[in-house]
Amino acid sequence: MSYLTITDLQKHYDHYHALRGINLAITEGEFLVFVGPSGCGKSTLLRTIAGLESSSAGSIILDGRDITELASSKRDLAMVFQSYALYPHMTVADNLSFALRLAKLPDTEIQEKIRFVSASLQLNPLLDRKPKELSGGQRQRVAIGRAIVRQPKVFLFDEPLSNLDAALRVQMRLELARLHKKLSTTMIYVTHDQVEAMTLADRVVILNAGQIEQVGTPLELYRQPNSRFVAEFIGTPKMNLITANKAMLEGDNLVIDLLGNRIHFPANRLKETLSTSTIVGMRPEHMSFVEQDGDISGTIELVEHLGPEAYAHIQLSNDQTIIVKASARSELKDGQKVNIKIDVAEVILFNENDRVISVIPEEA
Ligand code: ADP
Repeated sequence: MSYLTITDLQKHYDHYHALRGINLAITEGEFLVFVGPSGCGKSTLLRTIAGLESSSAGSIILDGRDITELASSKRDLAMVFQSYALYPHMTVADNLSFALRLAKLPDTEIQEKIRFVSASLQLNPLLDRKPKELSGGQRQRVAIGRAIVRQPKVFLFDEPLSNLDAALRVQMRLELARLHKKLSTTMIYVTHDQVEAMTLADRVVILNAGQIEQVGTPLELYRQPNSRFVAEFIGTPKMNLITANKAMLEGDNLVIDLLGNRIHFPANRLKETLSTSTIVGMRPEHMSFVEQDGDISGTIELVEHLGPEAYAHIQLSNDQTIIVKASARSELKDGQKVNIKIDVAEVILFNENDRVISVIPEEA
């Protein structure tokens, strides 16, 4: 059953329509991540749920209660910001207990809660320090701790890790995932970083220009994007997209003319009739190098060696560059001519409106 239900939520800033009808049903305990390019409305959506922005239309129901018009402080939500927003003159312990003291909780209860979050977030050695005596990661942990002591119904995170360096981000990401397992509280998290979204989320919500483009588990979005936008947004390096010269049905096969090569695609995987233009989507790991009988050919432009794997950038006859995953010990050389085999079972087709037109095969 839905715990947090958002129905046709709209937000107009003076002249800008920032949220264009958002519908979402969030289950209790779920870790939901909003992701999308800058300006797509992620923060606006989160801030509207938090009550920091008013909505222009629509409703927000939390645990059976309509909170759409409620003041932020009455919504039973706790928000963690990128900027930490700690009280600079207070110690960590006082920062953690501030809201509880304000709510006039008994001292023993406050102490117990502080002990619990300090242990969960390894804050014990820091309790007497002021924020300026802490590293960025430590400050962010205090900010998260301050949200936890309030035992909200939902945690809202607005890009909480973007001020941290790369190594610390990875560490804090793990800590957040552990914390979510331990608390089992509903979490909504905003990020522009699709890797962060994919690693943290139970479900990812991809936003585009104020609308939801697709909602799904990380793997669903990766394997079954329903638009070119999602296909290109999820996955690093990006999915390769080549426009077919022609695509036509021949018996049980769809024959696609890709740069003058005929690729056979099972016609039963087409969910729509062909449009005038077909775009062929192939992820870098679904293509490989072969000595002969390749599907397409090209010339190596450069090879990126990342350690566990390598990515070869290949220039095709139409001057387009695609990326193919190669083995870590690949000895491919710049300028070398290569033949590429396409794993047809993993190919995704889009029409000229960038909507997917192929059905994804069952997992092997
Ligand atoms: P994101 O978090 O996805 O980067 P935001 O939710 O911050 O995007 O913003 C969505 C859109 O709304 C952007 O085009 C932004 O310029 C606009 N916007 C955000 N806040 C305001 C505001 N206070 N007044 C007018 N426009 C705003």
